[in-house]
Amino acid sequence: MATCLVTGGAGFLGSHLCDELLRRGHRVICVDNLETGSLKNIHHIRVPEFVHLNVDIIEPFFVDEPVDFVYHLASPASPIDYLRLPLHTLKVGSHGTHHALGLAKKHRARFLIASTSEVYGDPQEHPQKETYWGHVNPIGPRGVYDEAKRYAEALTMAYHRQQGVDTAIMRIFNTYGPRMRPHDGRAIPTFLRQALQDQPITVFGDGSQTRSFCYVSDLIRGMIALAESGHHHPVNIGNPNEFTLLELAETVIEVTGSRSQIVHEPLPTDDPQVRQPDIALAGQLLGWAPEVELREGLRRTIEDAGVEMLTGTSS
Ligand code: NAD
Repeated sequence: MATCLVTGGAGFLGSHLCDELLRRGHRVICVDNLETGSLKNIHHIRVPEFVHLNVDIIEPFFVDEPVDFVYHLASPASPIDYLRLPLHTLKVGSHGTHHALGLAKKHRARFLIASTSEVYGDPQEHPQKETYWGHVNPIGPRGVYDEAKRYAEALTMAYHRQQGVDTAIMRIFNTYGPRMRPHDGRAIPTFLRQALQDQPITVFGDGSQTRSFCYVSDLIRGMIALAESGHHHPVNIGNPNEFTLLELAETVIEVTGSRSQIVHEPLPTDDPQVRQPDIALAGQLLGWAPEVELREGLRRTIEDAGVEMLTGTSS
């Protein structure tokens, strides 16, 4: 049994990670100030092997028991959140990552940072390999998130090279599943909420921009495999099946049996045109590949979350 500290453990991905680590017999310390997460995501966990510390990681934080793994997920993640919290996002990526790395150093723990495909920006290389350095607008509105993650990756490598911390960098591509917030602005929860209420489905631009969507259980399996490997350089984890936003909207309508119509809205600033992971490295290093296809993942999301949760009509 290992002790795993999960920053952002009350968020969408973090809470699924806590569930899976506990299921595998580990002890979990969840560190989360509930800035964008919720106690609802962890209130079902009632075992002595789990503790939640309501701590803002922008300030230094400590735990006085041994820690074997630090999974560093805390950060606003959806555009709605990081556009509302630009300075907080930069501080979590910088100060917060310093504190999480410092803690891993003190405890001689293996450290994994949840980075993002957004470090590739609006990519000029397709699909995106880990060796691609990216094409990011540092001063656009999305720059606060993209650059915070790029800085956090640089910091992680510096702690590894200079301080000898055992680090891993996971570049996460769009992931979906139960516990996404219906109003967090990301495509799948937005389309599901609209389709389940037979409301117009709002596609940005002409909908020809592409994304690839990974189901949460696949992602968490990849995250733990990477944490438990000895690898230090970035590894993409995502589902390489690529869809246009229009195809995604049509698939959501089909799976939900909705009567919604598709409508178009202006494209946000610096919205990437394409997004598709090259996952060859994850296959070689970890023997990892996603298993859940989009239609199946959408069905599971609806079944597990329930219509009230997905439409925001639950109490
Ligand atoms: P989320 O917003 O649901 O979870 C983030 C969690 O971090 C929340 O529970 C929030 O309360 C917590 N947090 C934020 N600031 C904090 C602070 N200062 N101190 C303590 N806790 C703080 O987002 P998510 O989708 O679960 O994303 C988790 C991580 O994965 C993020 O780092 C994100 O950048 C990365 N990621 C997610 C995706 C995706 O598709 N979901 C894609 C790429 C990268």
